[in-house]
Amino acid sequence: MTARTITILGATGSIGASTLDLVRRERDKWQVAALTANGNAAELAKLAREFGAQLAVVADEAALPALREALAGSGIEAAGGAGALVEAAARPADMTMAAIVGCAGLAPTMAAIARGQSVALANKEALVSAGDVLMAAVAQSGATLLPTDSEHNAIFQCLAGNDLGHVRSITLTASGGPFREWSAEQLAVATPAQAVKHPNWSMGAKISVDSATMFNKGLELIEAHHLFPVGLDKLKIVVHPQSVVHSMVEYRDGSTLAQLGPSDMRVPIASCLAWPERMDTPCDPLDLAALGQLTFRAPDEVLFPATRLCRQAAEAGGAAPAVLNAANEVAVAAFLSGQIAFTRIAVMVEEVLGRYAPAAPAALGDVIAIDAEARSHAHRLLELA
Ligand code: NDP
Repeated sequence: MTARTITILGATGSIGASTLDLVRRERDKWQVAALTANGNAAELAKLAREFGAQLAVVADEAALPALREALAGSGIEAAGGAGALVEAAARPADMTMAAIVGCAGLAPTMAAIARGQSVALANKEALVSAGDVLMAAVAQSGATLLPTDSEHNAIFQCLAGNDLGHVRSITLTASGGPFREWSAEQLAVATPAQAVKHPNWSMGAKISVDSATMFNKGLELIEAHHLFPVGLDKLKIVVHPQSVVHSMVEYRDGSTLAQLGPSDMRVPIASCLAWPERMDTPCDPLDLAALGQLTFRAPDEVLFPATRLCRQAAEAGGAAPAVLNAANEVAVAAFLSGQIAFTRIAVMVEEVLGRYAPAAPAALGDVIAIDAEARSHAHRLLELA
């Protein structure tokens, strides 16, 4: 069997590490084409050497000298900058894992999609911001888009072989994040260290904060709206603190199919890497008797307004999701750097959404321009605060 080629965009992150862990276990089946990072040249070079990558790219050009130095004598090509990132994504690879965090991953993800091969999409902000533009690119290139987010991967699996016309509803499960039992008073003084300490999942800082605010679930609602176009009224959210049921699809006959699994991203990543086959993972099997019970409850949209804001942005369509995403990225960074309070994140997003309503994007360049302008609106709000 010939090895399949793989490119990992965001190789030094949490999803990148989980993907490479699976590749490491089946080294004979994979050949690594390109690995990318933002500025972590040392880790990127280490991974590129271990996996014998053909190309390593840092998005931050200032990190290129360090990358070159760390790769000296290895024969691995090194490159830096936004253009090099897109060029790396445009190189042939049977599979691309799109795992850059934020809208920064949009242009390389689109370049991978344009090739018409398989793209495993973890970078939810790209789909939230570019929505119709990204899905149109998938249709045009014939790329196979495999949802990697655990919820969307669960839905993808539950839908297999079924017509969307038979779907009565799709339910995204949410752990509720680390603050799910907190009061308004506690949320007002929540610290970045508390916000990134997720009870069930080990993830990067940005998605961990999104999980704490529930923006993660809201972004996922928008993501699901594009991946599984059954209509927003059929998309529901339920809080499920154990994170064992990863999402569900209810059919018109009253059957509900759910996908269950451990809280380990290697399970949905493996599903993407092996699709339409299956592969082994080192994850422990589910022990339902040991778990004892699985609980579910409705989300609290008063304490956690993010899902309401995301639903409204999805309903508004056009540029609204890109504006929401950009404002959230700026607000999360400001919270992580101690500039604003936790509860200010949603307030800021709502303010930017209310102040700035650009025309719907028709192409990638429009989305990038909307993202940039929404960010400057958000930064202006930060300066005024
Ligand atoms: P991490 O923060 O752990 O990793 C992010 C990766 O993107 C790193 O390789 C980082 O490089 C790179 N990166 C950061 N900024 C830029 C930039 N401006 N340009 C190019 N590359 C950049 O994030 P996660 O792995 O947690 O998440 C990645 C994506 O997957 C996100 O969209 C997230 O929502 C999604 N996701 C993550 C899950 C998880 O369990 N972690 C679950 C489901 C979805 P460097 O190391 O050099 O900074």
